[in-house]
Amino acid sequence: MIIRPKVRGFVCVTAHPQGCAAHIQEQIAYVRKEGSVKQGPKRVLVIGASTGYGLSSRIVSAFGSGAATIGVFFERPAGNGRPATGGYYNSVGFEQAAHKEGLYARSINGDAFSDEIKQKVIDLIQEDLGTVDMVVYSLAAPRRNHPKTGAVHKSTIKPIGASFTGKSVDTDEGVISEITIEAATGREIADTIAVMGGEDWEMWIDQLKAGGVLAPDATTVAYDYIGPEMTWPIYTNGTIGAAKRDLRAACSRIQSKIGDDGGRAFISVNKALVSQASSAIPVVPLYISILYKVMKQMGIHEGCIEQIDRLFRTRLFGGVDPHLDNDGRIRIDDFEMRPEVQKAVADIWPEVTTENLAELTDIAGYREEFLKLFGFGLPGIDYEARVDSELSLKE
Ligand code: NAD
Repeated sequence: MIIRPKVRGFVCVTAHPQGCAAHIQEQIAYVRKEGSVKQGPKRVLVIGASTGYGLSSRIVSAFGSGAATIGVFFERPAGNGRPATGGYYNSVGFEQAAHKEGLYARSINGDAFSDEIKQKVIDLIQEDLGTVDMVVYSLAAPRRNHPKTGAVHKSTIKPIGASFTGKSVDTDEGVISEITIEAATGREIADTIAVMGGEDWEMWIDQLKAGGVLAPDATTVAYDYIGPEMTWPIYTNGTIGAAKRDLRAACSRIQSKIGDDGGRAFISVNKALVSQASSAIPVVPLYISILYKVMKQMGIHEGCIEQIDRLFRTRLFGGVDPHLDNDGRIRIDDFEMRPEVQKAVADIWPEVTTENLAELTDIAGYREEFLKLFGFGLPGIDYEARVDSELSLKE
């Protein structure tokens, strides 16, 4: 079939298999250019491995330190005349590239919150790898079926305590508007913590340890975001921020469970980037569009692969100091949070209107990055040609 982008609000409902594979190749080329990661991990489990930060973590592990990788994600394969999701094609592209290099790469497509998928992963590690020496937890999910209680929790992105009114952009239409979001109820806060907090990360580590498949000196990392004050009402001080505080508490518990054997648990605060998860958060896409403009002008812009490559090389492996902040977190958002970057963003923020959006912000770069998540806009791909959409993973 011929596959063209079909953007519906903050998602694109089509994806291009060759474009996704080309996007993977771009990321691999970046890691290769940087050279090998000293004392990098060798057997890596990535939970949330098909897009965004998890995908980059898988690529840096495989192509930076030659790691065998197991990727867990929840993606739709092609069927009924519809192409697969971008994350599915990314994973096919990743597996093909890894296998070509002689690297072990297996994927498990299913609900990471379930006991069944956890057991499947444990069985696979036992059979093929023995243990994993790194576990990356990079889920961004809209809901969670709790494996013990059977309850269904839905995450929401809302302020806590009071409603919030602020500027936002419709990235598809290019229209700036003022939006108001009502404060979350107690139930919505608890549900968001259940989905995006730390309980599931801890369950993974507990079960991997109990299954005997976690190497004693394993490193585990989960990703966090803080960002500037203009996004705090909706992010850091909102429902998702409450979930991230829960994630940090889980990190301390995990550290105390694995630390005696030499294991290490980290929270890494990463930069704001265009991803399927971030595009769904009001206010954040406008902030990202301005941030990209500023950071590109200053020559310090980074995408997912640059962020994770720097995380592995300069904070996690090779005996480097992780440079923890006062709250014990890694700060790979350090370039984003530089005062001169934040001042430039804050100066632009009040000035942006629908009319000057293209001039004052990098909305064009935002849209380009967004389409690339689905394999569109990659150089060298003939988007008018028919492609085989029915690619499948070796599960
Ligand atoms: P993403 O949307 O690109 O990726 C989410 C991943 O989770 C995908 O692989 C998806 O398949 C997987 N997933 C979702 N539900 C699942 C389920 N039930 N079972 C198995 N897999 C499932 O997200 P992202 O933006 O890369 O975010 C990953 C992490 O990084 C999140 O914790 C997020 O808060 C954090 N983070 C993101 C940003 C940003 O700007 N994007 C910044 C800092 C930190």
